[in-house]
Amino acid sequence: MSDLLQRLRDRGWRLTAQRRVIAEVLDGEHVHFTADEVHALAAERLPEISRASVYNTLGELVALGEVLEVTTDGRAKRYDPNAHHPHQHLICSGCGTMRDVRITADPLAALPAGERFGFAVSEAHVTYYGRCPDCAAATAVAGG
Ligand SMILES: [Zn+2]
Ligand SMILES: [Zn+2]
Repeated sequence: MSDLLQRLRDRGWRLTAQRRVIAEVLDGEHVHFTADEVHALAAERLPEISRASVYNTLGELVALGEVLEVTTDGRAKRYDPNAHHPHQHLICSGCGTMRDVRITADPLAALPAGERFGFAVSEAHVTYYGRCPDCAAATAVAGG
């Protein structure tokens, strides 16, 4: 049973076939799909599902606070079901694979008072970049 699906059930969200398939696609850890990826995966299970209903459902899930919208580098928005555990992201600059990571330091506390310009700072998003093991191995092979 998907954690997201269970959370939606607990909230009494009406689970139509389309909503259920979308929630199932967004199951798991380290999931950060674009809307198009969600649509493609959902269509494998429910071929008649439309792009519009995927977009609408994703919007509702974000509004409910059950799915996060993640945007990095001006790339397409991604949808992340890990909405209840604060985390940062580790992204492969080669293939774009994205991992959820938790850091022990509070990223909010890392911003010194003198750099806050009087803002009541409420959120911080830190993104780490590097090469995943697969890309690092591919580079090593290509480089001989
Ligand atoms: Zn990679
Ligand atoms: Zn994430």
